[in-house]
Amino acid sequence: MLVALGLILTLMEPDWRQAHALISLTGCYVVLLAVGSLTPRLDFYLRAARRGPTDRPWVALTFDDGPHPATTPLLLELLRRERISAAFFFVGEAARRYPGLVARAAADGHLIGNHSDRHGYGWTVSSTERLFVEFAAANRTLADILGQPPRFARTPAGISRPHLADVLRRLQLCNVAWDVRGLEGFYRDPERIAARVARRARNGSILLLHELYYGMPCCKPRQALTTAQLTINRLRACGFHFVRLDRLLEQADPAVLSSERNPPLESGVLRVETGVDKVMSDRGAATVAPRARRAA
Ligand SMILES: [Zn+2]
Repeated sequence: MLVALGLILTLMEPDWRQAHALISLTGCYVVLLAVGSLTPRLDFYLRAARRGPTDRPWVALTFDDGPHPATTPLLLELLRRERISAAFFFVGEAARRYPGLVARAAADGHLIGNHSDRHGYGWTVSSTERLFVEFAAANRTLADILGQPPRFARTPAGISRPHLADVLRRLQLCNVAWDVRGLEGFYRDPERIAARVARRARNGSILLLHELYYGMPCCKPRQALTTAQLTINRLRACGFHFVRLDRLLEQADPAVLSSERNPPLESGVLRVETGVDKVMSDRGAATVAPRARRAA
């Protein structure tokens, strides 16, 4: 609209000032769209679940970009040892290549989510139908393996665009972002990443770590494992407990998970990690949090 308006003004009264205004307006508009697309926290095109309830010292651990035989088995073993149910946002193409890993993650009690079919970025500027295919194909792959389609999706890098809300609604997918991420490709050092995540974590945080960076060899399998282990250690030392993403969001702001945009979540008993943590499912005892912080 801005471009059309600028063109009309320019045609009506050709003047360099109009051309300058047109370029400036167009530039601002493009920058606004780009910032909105690349910043999940702005909810520019659609809402994203970024954090659960803040009344308890709990966090949800999520991993993106798998499955991969070099990383997924290591992480599954770690999570089994630590008795943590996490969420894996898998790429459809990789899931077709390693269906056994997807099935194993689900059998271990982890939540499986849709992280697009190819983890490319063509869908960010494609037709709406092509956008639909990108997420529908991954949904179909995961449904074939698991017997039911996923309920949650996370777009690559959390990018959004027009019509994404409609597409996810058609697929009955709840859009999930994060409020703390490791930025492993940037920081590299597992100790530094774990310290950063622990420093930023708050009650209800959704934590994003990566199995690998899809197509980018900047996150080695052992690095991913060490990062996850150190992050778990640090968060526990801070008094946080781990809860599976869907259980965390069951208690979230209803507007985020409204039936208008997202499918309703099953009600049920909160699932927490250990016997000690079962006290967390009792609302009356839920505020025991020696060092967990920033509840608001
Ligand atoms: Zn990704």
